Amino acid sequence: MHELYLRAGHETRIRSGHLWVFSNELQSIPRLPPGSLVRVVSAEGESFGVGLYNPHSLICVRLLGTDEVTDLDVPFFAERLRHALQLRERICKGESMYRLVHGESDLLPGLVIDRYGNYCAVQTLSTGMDQRLPIIVEALRHVLPEIEGIVEKNHSHLRQLEQLPQRQGILYGQVPERFVLEEFGLRVELRLMEGQKTGAYLDQRYHRAVVGRMASGLRVLDCFTYHGGFALHAALHGAREVVGVDSSASALEAARRNAELNQLQAVQFVEADVFTFLGEQVAEGKQWDMVILDPPAFAKSRRHVPAAKRGYGEINRLALLLLPPGGYLVTSSCSHHVFEAVFLEVIFAEATRLKRRLRLLYRGTQPSDHPILLNMPETQYLKFFIFQVL
Ligand code: SAH
Repeated sequence: MHELYLRAGHETRIRSGHLWVFSNELQSIPRLPPGSLVRVVSAEGESFGVGLYNPHSLICVRLLGTDEVTDLDVPFFAERLRHALQLRERICKGESMYRLVHGESDLLPGLVIDRYGNYCAVQTLSTGMDQRLPIIVEALRHVLPEIEGIVEKNHSHLRQLEQLPQRQGILYGQVPERFVLEEFGLRVELRLMEGQKTGAYLDQRYHRAVVGRMASGLRVLDCFTYHGGFALHAALHGAREVVGVDSSASALEAARRNAELNQLQAVQFVEADVFTFLGEQVAEGKQWDMVILDPPAFAKSRRHVPAAKRGYGEINRLALLLLPPGGYLVTSSCSHHVFEAVFLEVIFAEATRLKRRLRLLYRGTQPSDHPILLNMPETQYLKFFIFQVL
């Protein structure tokens, strides 16, 4: 196996368990085929294990967290998948939808697998993983023999960084055009061949249940509603009036179908840009008892952080203007680059400017099937808060 040497003084982060080696940390970038298995060694000769190489990516090596790997074959993936499944069977008991593999946090860098009942959606976000997709599918079928169909949802901006094409399709078996699963009492229609992410935003599912339970009798505005998640949980729990807003017409069609599926009448969906919509609501003097903000990642990289902070500031300010004393602000950010303390500062600054006192009722992050690898801060991305305006 080819050995790649780190430049002297560049081993601290990797020795502490981080799984990425950046191109500027290596003594040289050899002309090996992308996707090759390589061993990473310090300038003094200390081995940091093996990983997948891509000379064309800023993340040049993604380590697999162990020394023993010699071949990424079906038994290798089957073993890692079995470990991943064991954890989910423990922590997601009784749930039909969960994240089975969360990339680096499951020591499978660049691989994401979500389970939706007897179907799986797979994303390969690195060249090394992408090349091994057929092997991964075989291992997945081995570990989960009840799986009837596997789709690839490979349309992520992260693939562009690896020069991988955007792709979507069936990898194994058959997947119905649509099927229904349950999320904490709410029936949800899934169309794995359509939609954003791998189908549903599984990372907010416990938060949707928490918010739903709080919402009975309230007037609830769910911004960035996608398939109606928060809005429908609120309606299910007896919210008085619910409006969900999103700019995607196809997402809202799915939201309306989900409302019908659950026979929920007190909910309406509006196609609009949230920034504009909130501004109009403020201008009209409208009031809501609960405003939910679950925007897409505003900062996809570090250089977008200042603009992202302005965006978060703007929507949180407008939401606060719609809430009377006693109202609830449910607000989140999934931008890894905007750290929790920074996000809180932005909200605090807006509240202070508006002379509102906020009481923090609930603080959350991603659920345990999206584990955070302490050695890799990059694996932590979700921030979620429920505040009450005093
Ligand atoms: N709350 C959802 C997930 C939201 S994902 C859930 O729990 O399932 C983010 C959503 O924001 C996407 O549906 C996207 O279409 C929408 N979106 C992105 N930018 C927007 C904008 N400026 N105005 C309205 N919706 C927007």
